Amino acid sequence: MESRREKIIRLLSSTREPLDAQQIARELGLSPREAKLIYDDLMHIARSLRNSPLTLYMVPPTCRSCGYVFRDLKRLRKPSKCPRCRSQRISPPKFLISAERR
Ligand SMILES: [Zn+2]
Repeated sequence: MESRREKIIRLLSSTREPLDAQQIARELGLSPREAKLIYDDLMHIARSLRNSPLTLYMVPPTCRSCGYVFRDLKRLRKPSKCPRCRSQRISPPKFLISAERR
């Protein structure tokens, strides 16, 4: 049986548009308990793909109010608040796996 991480890799390799954690959870029918582990899974996936032709790309989270881009995430997650305008309207990071070099 495919592990959850293998399913995420398969999903993100076949999608055209980058997906956020919620979309990944929905596509794979994950329980809320499993959905909490997605960012953790993605960290492991990024590391495990290092020695393969595939790369995990992330579209960084952005603030929907002022356009601030969260480029230096210490931890992979959806930030709760914008450091520039304090808005909580943050679009979550999105992910895609591709063999292309960008
Ligand atoms: Zn902002």
